[in-house]
Amino acid sequence: MQLTFLGTGNSSGFSNTRHRLHSALLFEGPQGRVMIDCGSDWLEELPHLAPEALLLTHAHPDHSGGLEQGAPCPVYATADTWQRLADYPLTEKRLLEAGKMQAINGLLIQAVPLFHSLRAPTVGLRIQTGNTCLFYAPDVAALMEPATTLKGVDLYIGDGSALDNSLLRVEQGRACGHAPVSEQLQWCRAAGVESVIVTHCGSAIIGDEHSACDQLAALAANFGIDLEIAFDGLQRCIGCEESS
Ligand SMILES: [Zn+2]
Ligand SMILES: [Zn+2]
Repeated sequence: MQLTFLGTGNSSGFSNTRHRLHSALLFEGPQGRVMIDCGSDWLEELPHLAPEALLLTHAHPDHSGGLEQGAPCPVYATADTWQRLADYPLTEKRLLEAGKMQAINGLLIQAVPLFHSLRAPTVGLRIQTGNTCLFYAPDVAALMEPATTLKGVDLYIGDGSALDNSLLRVEQGRACGHAPVSEQLQWCRAAGVESVIVTHCGSAIIGDEHSACDQLAALAANFGIDLEIAFDGLQRCIGCEESS
């Protein structure tokens, strides 16, 4: 299964040639192409990308705005997200049910609710392909049950919005915004996750990527974790060892 990081930016307004477009993933395998998240940067590109299925983590415009004019395929989202996108002209709406394993074009996917926004309730996605399990959380302030959520995960793809606590806040007793990468690395260390790719990059990474990368890689190495910062167009073969 080929994984492409179509975009690795966020809604901060900061971008460069490596992180130009809203964060989105594309999985390509024998059973089709599955796109995950579709921010407004993808509005014009969606017809050319022509996925067979689309999944949304939440309703913020940098994850769903590309669907304003419809979609060429079924779209999977939680009931909360559908409520917020009621005006979008989508004809093939599918329900992503929290906790349930759903087979979608060759991927086994489980949506896991996490803390990020009260107004746009958000899920992370546990994605199984072959013997490989990855967890995708481009926007996350906190995991509800990190040990359970990350159990058996080979690769964590996380939120690069912040390197410190500046984007974390508490609303109605719940963590909102974005956890620093260092905190996400601690969740991964505790759960034994050995590989991390950072996406959804904000000003802290884009402003000085070399020093951010050095700092994060050193911290990750201390935890026994391989870390890399994704860029627009990065490709990885997921679970290819078994199929080759
Ligand atoms: Zn976002
Ligand atoms: Zn968000």
